[in-house]
Amino acid sequence: MHFEPLSSWLPAPSEPLIISGPCGAESYEQVMRTARGLKALNRVALFRAGVWKPRTRPNAFEGKGEEALKWLQDVKKEYGFKLTVEVANAHHAELAIKYGVDVLWIGARTTVNPFSVQEIAEVLKGVNVAVMVKNPIHADLQLWIGGIERIYNSGIRKIAAIHRGFYFYGKTKYRNKPLWQLPIELRTQFPDLPLICDPSHIGGTRELLLPIAQKALDLGMNGLMIESHCEPEKALSDAQQQVTPEQLGDLLSKLVLRKLNADNPNANTILGELRRIIDEVDDELLNVLKKRTQIIEEIGKYKKEHHIISFQLERWQEILRTRGQWADKLGLSRQHVEKICQLLHEESIRIQNGLMNE
Ligand code: PEP
Ligand code: MN
Repeated sequence: MHFEPLSSWLPAPSEPLIISGPCGAESYEQVMRTARGLKALNRVALFRAGVWKPRTRPNAFEGKGEEALKWLQDVKKEYGFKLTVEVANAHHAELAIKYGVDVLWIGARTTVNPFSVQEIAEVLKGVNVAVMVKNPIHADLQLWIGGIERIYNSGIRKIAAIHRGFYFYGKTKYRNKPLWQLPIELRTQFPDLPLICDPSHIGGTRELLLPIAQKALDLGMNGLMIESHCEPEKALSDAQQQVTPEQLGDLLSKLVLRKLNADNPNANTILGELRRIIDEVDDELLNVLKKRTQIIEEIGKYKKEHHIISFQLERWQEILRTRGQWADKLGLSRQHVEKICQLLHEESIRIQNGLMNE
């Protein structure tokens, strides 16, 4: 697949490319006030607003539908913004095209469903429109690529991918875990596919927007989609993560734009991306180590309570043997893995003995 460069279909008034607007279009006044604030920043390339909102539970604000598309036409007329809205089925896509929406975006809950993406792709055949595909809710790169391919196969070449993080069951400071190695892998496979980060849905809170946005730029992403609202605290959806246009301006002024090393740009980019993957992998490795340590502490407490000795020769031999076999299976050096096991075991005994002598 080869894609049209972002600058040819979405010129940015300044770097980086910014997409902003409310999570949902709630009223005529709200979209117009938000758009007016954003216009004043002179930084926004594309005005976003959800007119059909996918909600976890019924009876939450589900968007104003076609009526809101009319308001967005006024945003375009009054402030000259290009528009983007989320489409989740063929009907949405038809209406969005009818109302002159410039860029359609496919939400995370839609990308997971190939039937829905295909249904939208059918509507797009022969239509001159751009499409942004958000990553699916769960961390499945193939499904993300599959969604992009379906749109591509309908003839669309103005495509961008949006990284909005991934659902994670467990404790995390993020609303959706970034798992940066996934967009990096997508970039590695499709170097000319424009990649936009959505810090709002990754972070879920205003405080996390800046660090996430900065990280995305440092990773070489091509733009940011950040939700804004004239009165964020009164928003009918995603109130905790939306910012006022002024706050957005403040955030943008704090971003540091880093350049690639100029000597040999290609080599540096690839090396840089590979190192970032290593950073992510090591981060994961340490998280796994943390989990292992917690379990060891539990075992230690249990052993203490039941007067069981900490060092168990048979268990240790079993660990060495099985991990050696697993290493063989994975094509890893057995010696290397045994050394790591030795270190882990030493630490585990140290922790357990510490607990027993408390
Ligand atoms: C949104 O952008 O408001 C939205 C619903 O996003 P996502 O599909 O990433 O959850
Ligand atoms: Mn939202």
